[in-house]
Amino acid sequence: MTPRLILKRGKEESLLRRHPWIFSGAIEKSEGSPEEGDIVDVYTHDGKFIARGHCQIGSIAVRVLTFVQEEIDSAWWLARIREAYRVRQSLGLTDNPQTTCYRLIHGEGDWLPGLVVDIYGETAVIQCHSVGMFLARGEVAEAIQKLYGRRITAIYDKSSQTVPYNAGLNATDSYLWGTPTTTNEVVLENGNRFAVNWEKGQKTGFFIDQRVNRELVKQYAQGRTVLNTFCYTGGFSVYALAGGAVSVDSVDSSERAVQLAAENVELNFGPDAPHRAITADATEYIRGIGSQYDMIILDPPAFAKHHKVLGNAMQGYKRLNAHALRQIRPGGILFTFSCSQAVSKELFRTTIFSAAAIAERNVRILHQLTQPADHPISIYHPEGEYLKGLVLYVE
Ligand code: SAH
Repeated sequence: MTPRLILKRGKEESLLRRHPWIFSGAIEKSEGSPEEGDIVDVYTHDGKFIARGHCQIGSIAVRVLTFVQEEIDSAWWLARIREAYRVRQSLGLTDNPQTTCYRLIHGEGDWLPGLVVDIYGETAVIQCHSVGMFLARGEVAEAIQKLYGRRITAIYDKSSQTVPYNAGLNATDSYLWGTPTTTNEVVLENGNRFAVNWEKGQKTGFFIDQRVNRELVKQYAQGRTVLNTFCYTGGFSVYALAGGAVSVDSVDSSERAVQLAAENVELNFGPDAPHRAITADATEYIRGIGSQYDMIILDPPAFAKHHKVLGNAMQGYKRLNAHALRQIRPGGILFTFSCSQAVSKELFRTTIFSAAAIAERNVRILHQLTQPADHPISIYHPEGEYLKGLVLYVE
């Protein structure tokens, strides 16, 4: 029998609104000794079935897979993943000669909490953030294979850094199926070329979530002197050059990242492109830039991983943005982002407001940015909206 969790009285409210997490404080008791990663059935205090999902240890006790009593078998995985595929198909991403990398599965946004799958050309990269998803990775891989047929030649599991470390799984990254034609695939994003190494790179190898925002950088780059901080593989740098930037400086604290940015610029524009790759702490570098730039991109890593450190994180965002706003040339364009889930859109905007006030500049919001459509947000799970950005015009 499937193990059961019984909720405290009245604790089904959020589930009736289809929120996909059940917190440990909502649970009265368990039956059948569920272990982390098991499929569990959740019942209300009055004995009514309410959800089925993956059991976890920690503050989130269950991540819901379904609100109906259905079998979670290979047909179920195939149906869910096909649904995710259909969304990408309707976005024109599944068969696009100009864009060969995209997110196929975005966790809660695809009703699959704890699972991320990115497609890089002919390779699918799976990243599991829960033990339940890690245990189901074989079924996930099988479904992807069925859906894509010969269009996929390899499926790589890159969960060792993302599954809960205390679950004792000793996960190692490996190919679940097939062999890749290369591990340094050159993918296309809106016609721009990027070498992606999913085995060695950060996350699944590339930050796919900035695809749409990079297009906007391209639109504004004509004739501008650009600083791209926290550049990683140089996504924004390549688009800025494609848009006619006079010069682009890419800054990252990781030497490897800076090298990747330089390689990607060369891949698109040859060795003589007006590009400098700089290894430096961006928060230090930006202090002394003076008035050389009239377009600045700030895309730092998540400063706030938890609500507990929110105060410090907001100080960090404020300082960084104040430096950029103070020094950017009149008529400059600032692209500023936060990818912290713990930072709401409103809080981010208030923080940038404070930075503008400190910098004593006239600042207008031209665009409010978010994550692209292949990173959908379940309307029942607003926490899924993690990427926030503003495009500012600085007089
Ligand atoms: N803008 C990138 C993604 C940024 S990811 C893109 O479009 O792909 C965040 C990057 O910030 C990482 O590459 C990391 O190495 C870098 N980083 C982290 N702390 C930093 C710091 N203090 N100074 C400069 N770079 C930093």
